Amino acid sequence: MTIGDPDREHGRRLHNGAMRHLLTGLLFCTVVACGQTTKTKWAIAVHGGAGESEWQHMDRAIEAAYQASLSQALKAGTAVLSHGGKSLDAVEAAIKVLEDDPLFSAGRGSAFNDQGKNEMDASIMDGSTLAAGSVAGVCCTKNPISAARAVMERSPYVMIAGAGADQFAVKNGLQQMPASYFFTEMRWQELLGILKQSGKPIPARPPGVPKEPKSAVVGGGRGHYGTVGVVARDVLGNLSAGTSTGGMQGKATGRVGDSPVIGAGTYAANKSCAVSSTGVGEYFIRLAVAKEICALVEYKGMSIADAAQLVIHKEVASLKGGEGGVIVLDQKSEPVWSFNTLGMFRARQVEGGEAEVRVVGK
Ligand code: ASP
Repeated sequence: MTIGDPDREHGRRLHNGAMRHLLTGLLFCTVVACGQTTKTKWAIAVHGGAGESEWQHMDRAIEAAYQASLSQALKAGTAVLSHGGKSLDAVEAAIKVLEDDPLFSAGRGSAFNDQGKNEMDASIMDGSTLAAGSVAGVCCTKNPISAARAVMERSPYVMIAGAGADQFAVKNGLQQMPASYFFTEMRWQELLGILKQSGKPIPARPPGVPKEPKSAVVGGGRGHYGTVGVVARDVLGNLSAGTSTGGMQGKATGRVGDSPVIGAGTYAANKSCAVSSTGVGEYFIRLAVAKEICALVEYKGMSIADAAQLVIHKEVASLKGGEGGVIVLDQKSEPVWSFNTLGMFRARQVEGGEAEVRVVGK
């Protein structure tokens, strides 16, 4: 590594930031509020999408690959939290791992719209301040979650969409990539299957991608899902949530789902809970799922487990086509998940406990 290496600089800034964050909190807690120093147990949960057909086609090798990816994302988040870092940093770090991983439909490996283009959505929210940021329909920003965070921290807005969102990311120094970077054969074949079924025209392969393979693609046609999301609590008890997606496979050009919509795909408030959703976005928007769960916790005093169960299994499931799931965390409990699909890629860990990574089934 050389002097001035951006990764190293970033690492040092993260470390210094985490130390400042921890010291300020402990000082506040010791001197002002608590009489004695109390420390909240950090906690984190990660999801990699919920769906039906993935689980019908899952073989051992694919299962192991998802298991490894989810573990890696969990580790990126716990590395931040266990050093006293902010939940917001843990959320961004874990989501970036999944965005960079072609297995998931977020960042690299994203689903396509019906013209064969990537239009990615992401959002992030800080439960300690209710600050939030999101981007919708970005084509080229390597890590949409970082663009969402930049919107939150470096603009007066909550959401920026389309070309303006990529331009905003560029202005804020975020890396841009060509279409070929985001492309995976597996997602492309999935798209072709959907377009053929609905009789829509087949778009040309994106520029710079390898020729179509002659043999069947391993893991091809697994399903529509693969959105990623993270909820985290740091040692100061601050909650954060984030979500990133390529959206529904074969979606209409310009369609925006729930993932970048604060209150639907993502929500975090210290006084209630942090939520990241995945599923058919239209239902999650109509029911404002993430905020609905937190409202039940705040106003009805429900546990996060009961609130998540009610919203996913009663409210979402009662709408025809309402499929998906959530991960939820509050200031005191262990993270929970709930889904009404055959499965959801998911993982969680609480300070002092083991990592739990689940790929198949309930
Ligand atoms: N919720 C995402 C959307 O509707 C898709 C997903 O979670 O799989 O865009």
